Amino acid sequence: MAFHELVENQRKYFNTGETKKIEVRRQHLNTLRKALEENRDKFCEAVYNDHRRAKELTSSIEIDGSLAELDYFLANFEKWSEPVPVERTPVLSQDDVPMLVKDPVGVVLVIGPWNYPVVLVMAPLMAALAAGNTVVIKPSEVSANTSKVFENVMGKYFDKKVVAVVQGGVGETTELLKEHFNHILYTGAPFVGKIVMTAAAKHLTPVTLELGGKCPVVVADDADLEFAAKKVVQTKWVNCGQTCIAPDYAIVSPKVKSKFIDEVRKAIHEIFTDNVKASPMYSRMINERHFDRVKGILDRSKALPLIKTGELDRNDIFIPPLVVDVRADDAFMEDEIFGPVLPVLTTENLDETVKHISGGENPLAVYVFTNSKDVMKKIWSETHSGAVLGNDIMSHVSVMTLPFGGVGHSGMGRYRGKFGFDTFTHEKAVLLRNVKN
Ligand code: NAD
Repeated sequence: MAFHELVENQRKYFNTGETKKIEVRRQHLNTLRKALEENRDKFCEAVYNDHRRAKELTSSIEIDGSLAELDYFLANFEKWSEPVPVERTPVLSQDDVPMLVKDPVGVVLVIGPWNYPVVLVMAPLMAALAAGNTVVIKPSEVSANTSKVFENVMGKYFDKKVVAVVQGGVGETTELLKEHFNHILYTGAPFVGKIVMTAAAKHLTPVTLELGGKCPVVVADDADLEFAAKKVVQTKWVNCGQTCIAPDYAIVSPKVKSKFIDEVRKAIHEIFTDNVKASPMYSRMINERHFDRVKGILDRSKALPLIKTGELDRNDIFIPPLVVDVRADDAFMEDEIFGPVLPVLTTENLDETVKHISGGENPLAVYVFTNSKDVMKKIWSETHSGAVLGNDIMSHVSVMTLPFGGVGHSGMGRYRGKFGFDTFTHEKAVLLRNVKN
């Protein structure tokens, strides 16, 4: 079906008002839940074939994560859909009723990435459906197996006028972006975000851009180093470093550096054994292009190795966990690495750390390991990022009452939980004056 026809069919259906009905929205969310539960194995198998990621990891991170959020939507979307009375200002009389009425925006486009190809499509999809919209999904062609499962599963459980899946790469996405959507949520690299935003401008379509960046993890001198190292290893090397909110690099002072590195070495050994390549817990780079990209940085870098756990193998698109000692001007400190290399930057004090973080593009998240509230406060008040976490990494994505999103180079707009519902909702200003009955 041509893209124009597909989008206009959805618009026609949206205009009937059917998707606005609470019972229809609930049915869509329940159908999505069923689709996900009944096809858990298919999704996990597909992600394994795309990433060589252990199926149990996909099952818990992507499927259980999506189901938990779906349940949260099911429990709350009705309440969020109701009009919200707002305060009367002095220009209004006691009989005036000012309120916000929640309108779905219309036809939504979700463009997904390949790194967590299930949950990063499911999360915006459920938010858009809960808010009463129709949705076109364009999963990433890079995770081709998962994209195929999306097409099959959604085709089986949903009519195309409610949820449609479009396959394709740059060419198809460029064509699709010529269509008029009412909101576009894009997840991926910042340079494509600019292309999406430019295309959206032609129709004055609002965008939510979920992009990337270099997320630092600050390990303060008073941190529990063993705990910090474990958290870093668990999050940096899951999915072979291809996680947008994984720690990109660590910042430590000379005081704790060698002990921290020792703890990281121990934790790598504990999780991935001394033969990382054979560990079922260790994924591969998504493809040769991304292998070559990370290898290219490694070749240009002047950083000294601190931990090396194996040899690179292009035939197996395998890059082992590597930890390197960097200066601020090293090749590894230029852009987001999106691979299994952890640079460690040494700073003399917290002021220097803050100056370094503030000197670069805004990260998606900043992680801090410390027992000091003053250290935490300095970081959250003097740096800009999508999120700041104290003594943890990545866990904010599962807290449905917190928004998820970047700022500046790491993105614009936000979603998850009610923030997602609000993203795909227009809050219409309604004022009732002298309406008696
Ligand atoms: P990708 O290659 O899968 O691209 C994402 C989507 O953009 C795909 O659907 C692809 O078809 C489309 N696309 C690519 N080039 C295009 C073009 N020229 N025109 C139109 N569409 C195009 O993913 P990626 O970009 O390699 O993803 C990696 C980046 O995504 C990293 O920077 C990472 O940090 C970021 N990311 C962010 C989040 C988040 O939630 N903020 C999540 C995952 C990944």
